[in-house]
Amino acid sequence: MDHCAQPGLLPIEEAITRIFNSLNPIQEIETVSLPAALDRVLAADINAPINVPGADNSAMDGYALRAQDCAGELKIIGQSLAGHPFTDAIAAGQALRIMTGALIPPGADAVVMQENTLRNNELLTITQAVSAGENIRYAGEDIALNSQVFSAGRRITALDIGLLASLGIAQVNVLRKLRVAILTTGDELLISGAAPAAGKIYDSNRPLLTALLTRLSVELLDLGVVPDQPAALRDAFNQAMQWADVVISTGGVSVGDADYTKEILAELGEINLWKIAMKPGKPFAFGKLGSGYFFGLPGNPVSTAVTYHQLVVPGLRHLAGETFFVSDTQQCLSAIASHTIKKQPGRTDFQRGIFANENGINRVASAGLQSSGVLSAMAKANCYIRLEAERGTVAEGEAVTVIPFDRFIR
Ligand code: AMP
Ligand code: MG
Repeated sequence: MDHCAQPGLLPIEEAITRIFNSLNPIQEIETVSLPAALDRVLAADINAPINVPGADNSAMDGYALRAQDCAGELKIIGQSLAGHPFTDAIAAGQALRIMTGALIPPGADAVVMQENTLRNNELLTITQAVSAGENIRYAGEDIALNSQVFSAGRRITALDIGLLASLGIAQVNVLRKLRVAILTTGDELLISGAAPAAGKIYDSNRPLLTALLTRLSVELLDLGVVPDQPAALRDAFNQAMQWADVVISTGGVSVGDADYTKEILAELGEINLWKIAMKPGKPFAFGKLGSGYFFGLPGNPVSTAVTYHQLVVPGLRHLAGETFFVSDTQQCLSAIASHTIKKQPGRTDFQRGIFANENGINRVASAGLQSSGVLSAMAKANCYIRLEAERGTVAEGEAVTVIPFDRFIR
């Protein structure tokens, strides 16, 4: 806990705890085909319906035999190829030509790799003996029949899909996708593709959030740019509430700005405006909106990105039914600051940095301007430099905590 945090500011861990405590994870289940299961959340444990491998097989191209027969001259009695087993038993003094992945014939207890043999027509001499069990992949040594492979709440990775396929599983039961509605607020916002205009800026937050949300495999409703007008905001939030589990908006949550957003939200739901002890991202709104939830992110694009990553992603993962530890989502490294890093004590900084391992030592440098409007530095960055709330300016050569960007922020 940040004991030097400014009074009145909510520590980031406390914000996450409050978010978790309000969210009721979804429970509706659907069945999807294996290729469609990527990034979905498993609804039930999966136990192995078969052994993997299904039977003892060869780890090498070579000859299957009885290890005790290695000294003498052996007779080659046939071959076992992957997919084409040899079913007769191997007797004393016999060997079987065998390829990687082919089944071990009855009677054999080892495989000699081809390079350690001399073959003369049907006769075989072993130049380097093997002991029993060598070069055999045993049935069930990868996954044993009936063993638990995955537990409910796991978000399925590409590797998981390969593993499930190895078990012959073609469909899985997953939790339904979260329905997420997004909107951005601000009279200054232009949609990309529109002609530039005086006093206007392009809306970067909606395309950014749209892209980031694909990593979480949600159903998305894009409500567009909503002007800073009470009626327009009310309409947009009302529409979002009809459908969404979660509504995410950006802009209008900072002090003195677009008070309409706060007004309308107070009218439609139970929303808390928090000042979180983090930089960027001090103003942040969270609460209930109809039967769903609301996240209100600050409008500056870097603030949007960082608060989305630090607060919304854990919330959405929890709501989606995923089982995980928030602490595991922040894999920290220690790195040496390559230069002075300016900081005011009071809030946890998530500065954008570039780290590299140079001759075994992690070093990190700023990715550029640290203003919360400067998306170019964040796009160049590969990590946060996370500086503790109580910490002041960091001198060159001091150790700092680095959190490499994960797939949810890139
Ligand atoms: P706000 O949180 O509405 O006070 O906005 C803070 C700053 O972020 C202002 O400079 C806004 O113009 C800018 N901003 C708000 N929304 C967006 C957006 N969707 N894309 C880019 N910049 C934005
Ligand atoms: Mg605004």
